[in-house]
Amino acid sequence: MSAMVVEAPHSIDEFVKGYEEVGKLRGFRCANCGLVTATWGLACSRCGRYPLDEAELSPNGRVAAFTILTVPGDEFLNDAPYAYVVVDLDGGGRITGWMPSVKTENGLAIGDRVRFVTSYRPGVQFAKASEGSTSE
Ligand SMILES: [Zn+2]
Repeated sequence: MSAMVVEAPHSIDEFVKGYEEVGKLRGFRCANCGLVTATWGLACSRCGRYPLDEAELSPNGRVAAFTILTVPGDEFLNDAPYAYVVVDLDGGGRITGWMPSVKTENGLAIGDRVRFVTSYRPGVQFAKASEGSTSE
């Protein structure tokens, strides 16, 4: 007997390229139980179905949690302080990202509307829904 080896139908590189170059947030939707997740994986974390279907996630959501990072990694040194956010996307999927426009704890609140913005910078960048060209 040998363990079954499954081939990954989706690559993490494609996900990173999706949000860094194409401006899309990629995730998965389970055809069995309907779970929508932004977490890369092979099988549904709720019902175990394999494989999962790729789905484009909404660029809009609400802040579920955040903290202000003052001592970031090298790539973000010139941006500190900024908010590191956990966002619940409309229609499902929870994702982490960063908001360079938020410099203090008073600059953001749980439940605030935010939107994903395409950036040449690494990571998933968000802005307040009220900022910039796209408004709700
Ligand atoms: Zn499922």
